[in-house]
Amino acid sequence: MTDRAPDAGYEAVIGLEIHVQLRTEEKLFCPDGTGFGEVPNTNVCPVCLGLPGALPVLNREAVELAVRASLAFGCTVHQRSVWARKNYFYPDLPKGYQISQFEEPLATDGVFRVETDDTSDPVGRLAIRIRRIHMEEDAGKSIHDRFEGATAVDLNRTGTPLIEMVTEPDFRSPAQVRAWLTGVKQVLEYLEVSDCNMEEGSLRVDANVSIRPVGSEPLGTKTELKNMNSFSGVERALDVEIARQRDVVAMGGQVAHQTLLWDERRGDVRPMRSKEESHDYRYFPDPDLPPLQVSENLIEAVKAQLPELPAARRTRFREDYGLPAYDAGVLTARRPLADYYEETARTSGAPKEASNWIMGPVLAAMNARDLEADDFPVRPVHLAELIDLVEEGTINRNVAKDVLGRMLESAAGVEVGSAAAKTPAEIVREEGLATVSDTGRLEAWVEDALAAHPEEVARFRDGETRLQGFFMGEVMKRSRGKADPTEVARILTERLEET
Ligand SMILES: [Zn+2]
Repeated sequence: MTDRAPDAGYEAVIGLEIHVQLRTEEKLFCPDGTGFGEVPNTNVCPVCLGLPGALPVLNREAVELAVRASLAFGCTVHQRSVWARKNYFYPDLPKGYQISQFEEPLATDGVFRVETDDTSDPVGRLAIRIRRIHMEEDAGKSIHDRFEGATAVDLNRTGTPLIEMVTEPDFRSPAQVRAWLTGVKQVLEYLEVSDCNMEEGSLRVDANVSIRPVGSEPLGTKTELKNMNSFSGVERALDVEIARQRDVVAMGGQVAHQTLLWDERRGDVRPMRSKEESHDYRYFPDPDLPPLQVSENLIEAVKAQLPELPAARRTRFREDYGLPAYDAGVLTARRPLADYYEETARTSGAPKEASNWIMGPVLAAMNARDLEADDFPVRPVHLAELIDLVEEGTINRNVAKDVLGRMLESAAGVEVGSAAAKTPAEIVREEGLATVSDTGRLEAWVEDALAAHPEEVARFRDGETRLQGFFMGEVMKRSRGKADPTEVARILTERLEET
């Protein structure tokens, strides 16, 4: 990780607010659907529109997901928390308030650590404290770029369940923020709490940032950064804002407390219009909703069902399969990929080979097709079969790569995992791709290759022995890659050394 030069002995102090849309079918207080990209203003009802007399009814599934996330990030989940109204006016908030939690949140006091390659940290672990995780409902969306000179409002998102995670200001560099967020997203995906799609807004990150002289305790005046749409955007926005604050201080000025919007296209921040900024939300407990009760039993049940998290899985991959740290990191980045690897490794009994195949041609093919491992047409059982064919010497590695290509072709257009897709053994049999070790056929290819290149043969016999590789290639060409290379080398040496 790169720390930007700490100009003039100043350090950055950064905290985050992360909004995560929970993956529920229904909204937090009404049964409308939560799908993305549907016809605007169709997933709405009197409750989320805030029509008079409509009463909210809590979605228990959302509470379970919020508890799951809180436990995974090491927070204490409180058996009693309180719904509060956060009052403000905005066109995409028809009720005039958002139901959130304020003084008594669902969970508090967590810590989440990520491994880093930051050499300034001897442990290589970045531990960030989480002040609180609370539940709330999302607002609608104001759409500014759809109609010339007008803003449109889509209320489909109104009432979608969210958790908001608030960290302590424990980050000292934008690179730390990015590394930590990457770890947070992995955990949320493993938990199946959210799809974490930043482009669709299901994971949104705001940051507050200040600078202070290195070694000083009190915090400087902070600014709040919004409108970052990717982790790299968060990192760049923080870099720009920290540099701006350093310039202000270097010129003898003072940083003003304000909210800034990141402009991705210009690579710059600009202040939010003061009208858009409102700090007095006049929170009060929602009179329509009793305090949220989460029983000890529910907390224990959710805890017992937590899946193995990425850090634990990385350690286990290194121990159980003897993988290097790098492989374990790549293979556990996403849960479907980790599952895919694990099934292939177990079925083939060749864990390092499985890792090489998946980190090489398989991941390349997944990325080229923009597929997750669970949608990838070559299933682990067939990849394991392919690895076995190489291990037992039926085909060589280069032929195996071609076979993988054929497997992908034969699986195109049929359902994932369907029996219509060809197995590697079928492809090898049908196309006659098995390695040829038959001495008669190998000798014929060798004779042919030598006869076609009398000059090279003469040069070899004059001592230019590195031409062995050239002859090897000529024989492999004639065999279409199927010749057993060890046997070919033996026959070639024999023939070339005859005089
Ligand atoms: Zn509704």
